[in-house]
Amino acid sequence: MGITVLRLGHRPIRDKRVTTHLFLAARAFGADRGIYSGVKDRGLEETLARVCLEWGGSFRVEYAESWRKVVKEWSGKVVHLTMYGVPFRDVIPAIRDDSAEKLIIVGGEKVPSEAYSLADWNVSVTSQPHSEVSALALFLHEYFEGQELDKKFDGARLRVVPQERGKKVVTITSP
Ligand code: SAM
Repeated sequence: MGITVLRLGHRPIRDKRVTTHLFLAARAFGADRGIYSGVKDRGLEETLARVCLEWGGSFRVEYAESWRKVVKEWSGKVVHLTMYGVPFRDVIPAIRDDSAEKLIIVGGEKVPSEAYSLADWNVSVTSQPHSEVSALALFLHEYFEGQELDKKFDGARLRVVPQERGKKVVTITSP
C-alpha cells in the first residue's frame, strides 16, 4: 500500500532546503506523495515538480492549510516519526503487515502534542535528536526492506549511468 509523507509547519525561509530534501528523500525511497502544512511555498512545489519531470515517477507534492484536517480525514493509518516514540524496528513488522495506506507525519521545529495522540504509531529512529530527512530515509528503508533501492521511475527524461569515476547522464528519448 502507498505512503504519503506529511511535513508539519514548513517555513520557506528557514526550512526551504530541509523540506525540499525531505521530499526528495521521500520520492527516492519509495513514497508516493508529499503534503506540507505551514506556509505555502510555490518554489518548493516547482522544485519537486521539476525533479519529477526530469527524473520520472509519479511523486507529487501538495499544500494543506490544516495538517489536523489531513490527519483526521485520513482513511488509512498514521505513523508519526519522533525521537520519543517506540524503536522503529520493534513496530515496523506490524506497520508493514497492516494493509492500510500510510500517512507518515514528520515534524518541524515544534510538534503539536495532538500529533502524538492522533497517530496510530509514534515511532523513533533511535532516541537521539537528528533530522527529519535521516529519520524518514531510515524508516522507509526498513519499511520496504531495501526493495525501494531498485525502484524504477517511469517516464524519466534523464538517467544516471553509474560510473566508478566521473558523471554520466543520458537523455531518454520517448519511443
Ligand atoms: N524534538 C523533536 C522530536 O520530536 O523528534 C526533534 C525535532 S527535529 C528538528 C524535526 C523532526 O525530525 C521531528 O519532528 C521528527 O519527525 C524527526 N526526527 C528527529 N529525530 C528523530 C528520531 N530520533 N526519530 C524519529 N524522528 C526524528
